[in-house]
Amino acid sequence: MVPAILPTYARADVDFASGKGSWLFDRDGKRYLDLGAGIAVNCLGHAHPELVSVLKRQAETLWHTSNLYPVANQQALAERLVRKTFADTVFFTNSGTEAMECAVKMARKYFAGDGGIPRNKIVTFEGSFHGRSLGMISAAGGKKLVDGFGPLLPGFVHVPFGDIVAVESAVDHETAAIMVEPVQGESGINPAPKGFLRDLRVLCDRHGILLVLDEIQCGMGRTGKLFAHESEGITPDIMGIAKGIGGGFPLGACLATEKAAAGMVVGTHGSTFGGNPLACAVGMAVMDIVSEIGFLEGVQERAAALRLRLADLVDAHGEVFSGVRGAGLMLGLVCKPVNTDVIAAGVGEGVITIPAGDNVARVLPPLNISLQEIEEGVRRLGLAARSIEARV
Ligand SMILES: *Cc1c(COP(=O)(O)O)cnc(C)c1O
Repeated sequence: MVPAILPTYARADVDFASGKGSWLFDRDGKRYLDLGAGIAVNCLGHAHPELVSVLKRQAETLWHTSNLYPVANQQALAERLVRKTFADTVFFTNSGTEAMECAVKMARKYFAGDGGIPRNKIVTFEGSFHGRSLGMISAAGGKKLVDGFGPLLPGFVHVPFGDIVAVESAVDHETAAIMVEPVQGESGINPAPKGFLRDLRVLCDRHGILLVLDEIQCGMGRTGKLFAHESEGITPDIMGIAKGIGGGFPLGACLATEKAAAGMVVGTHGSTFGGNPLACAVGMAVMDIVSEIGFLEGVQERAAALRLRLADLVDAHGEVFSGVRGAGLMLGLVCKPVNTDVIAAGVGEGVITIPAGDNVARVLPPLNISLQEIEEGVRRLGLAARSIEARV
């Protein structure tokens, strides 16, 4: 008999009841150090007092009116995002998938209606992930994502990640955009090779096409910059963000330059819930905290410490881990046994990590995790590795 919840998820056997900071507690009161942050979502940990009080205050004031009317919090959050990024304008969504759908619609619209050969193809990358809608599985193109769901949305050309020559030969007179994750997340924490984003920017400018970034997982301070592309010194034309920006409240956004957004006039796009007052109230509080002086430097400091400790862990447990990779607090431990076994052993020792492709256990802690908690998390991962070594 099919379970009450459609069985599309392989859920770990743990029953969380509450959370505080970097810690989760199950129904028996066991503590878990959360190095997964709900897949890079709880960027300020659990039950952050400022987020709780902002959400409570908004809940007592106004929940929802729809986008038929101005939404004050949405306006304020958009202005903050515009001030802090390359963007001139923002469309709010409830999820990352929707943010990327908006990005693709915007890129197509930009080139629509000028009467010539339609420019509507988008170059995307092998191993990418942009969400689970039909459009976004078509965009990513991975076999596991698309199998059985055809016919797919046409117009996406897939090339190897990091291969600028392949991108150059895929771009033609029908290409509208190149769409890329600066750090591929779901496929196993693969940062783009150094210089790749810059090469893509140059290529886009040369052809007059749009650079679309998916910073849903790697954005919002995760790599130690507010957005990952900043460390390459480039800006995109369009960018999808989500996950961390709501600190655990569902919120996504598509950011764009005025030029790239030119086609998106009244009536071209919309969302009932997108940019809801509750979500945007929390989003503003997250932005305020992440924008505090020294916050991102703190992320870089924690990231350096975590990276070193994970490298030690890999050295000490060569039977369990073959390497560590990633950027900032977006790291991946490459496992030798099946990654889900390593992750389950971690759960046994009270530490949470997240599976990804390429047999990786993702380490994506809250951005405000303490240095002591990093030590404790790595200690527990060491115990998990030892319990696996004892088995073989
Ligand atoms: C999670 C993710 C998405 C999809 O976001 P949802 O909120 O699950 O719709 C898209 N792109 C990337 C890079 C992601 O990590």
